[in-house]
Amino acid sequence: MNRTVYFCNHCKKALHDIEELLFVEEGSPRGFCGEKCIEQYYAPIVAWYENRERETRSLLDIANEDCKTMISDANVMDKALSRPDEIWRWQNEIGEDLFVFIKNFAIERPFYAVIMCHLFERQPSFILLASATRSEEFINQFRSGERIVDPDEFISRDDLPAGAIDLEVEQEALSAIEAKKSAFLARLLQDRTAADIPFEQFDLYEKYFKTTLEDPDEIYTDEDDDGDQLFTYIKAYQHNNISFYYFIICVEFEKESDGEAETRKIIPLMAFPTLDGELYHLYRGGKLVSGSLKN
Ligand SMILES: [Zn+2]
Repeated sequence: MNRTVYFCNHCKKALHDIEELLFVEEGSPRGFCGEKCIEQYYAPIVAWYENRERETRSLLDIANEDCKTMISDANVMDKALSRPDEIWRWQNEIGEDLFVFIKNFAIERPFYAVIMCHLFERQPSFILLASATRSEEFINQFRSGERIVDPDEFISRDDLPAGAIDLEVEQEALSAIEAKKSAFLARLLQDRTAADIPFEQFDLYEKYFKTTLEDPDEIYTDEDDDGDQLFTYIKAYQHNNISFYYFIICVEFEKESDGEAETRKIIPLMAFPTLDGELYHLYRGGKLVSGSLKN
């Protein structure tokens, strides 16, 4: 008999290594063997909330609001999740919780984006419902439970894996890196297809970061618009019969030390998984570097 065994919450597959489990909800032992089981487990729950939304909209006579489609805009989604104006925590009596993110968009005719989601490590991990509305009455339906005092502080901003950033990197370089990261993310959100792995689930793939960096299938190098050297690490994986690529885009940062030869560091800018062969071709640009780079 094996003392430590975990069962996928959906398909009940037995797993012996906790590293193989994917978690969606903070502080909950509900773990899954893969993306597919996460999707299937939550599908009826998502459907239930969608039905509640439909009922509420029809009661308020706003079934077909013109702004509803705004929520499928990746930019709106990204802003609502990363810089919400309000966060509400809904908790039930057995300690399960979910979060409501609300953001007011004041473009031409203002509207609200509202997202119900689970958080894991203070980052949105699964979206139960996402909608857009101009109705105060509708948005007020979501304003209950505990209001998070400072949404900005509440959400974890640490989207680089721990230890990836060298603490000696100067502030100036850090700002440049932040700017590059934002530009990359904006480009990626545009280039991605709706069928690809959802942005809010990228966190679930962080465990592939280390092996991709240490043992990549391919490394490409290219110069970016600022003349900095970029390195793209790519590794293909298979999980539950689904193949995907994990990408890590790094920038080479040169740092001068007194009296010694200058040191060069490669700093990860961004990491993401993708199922999309076209995206793979688009992002593996530059010159193929043979062998793996270790600094
Ligand atoms: Zn499973």
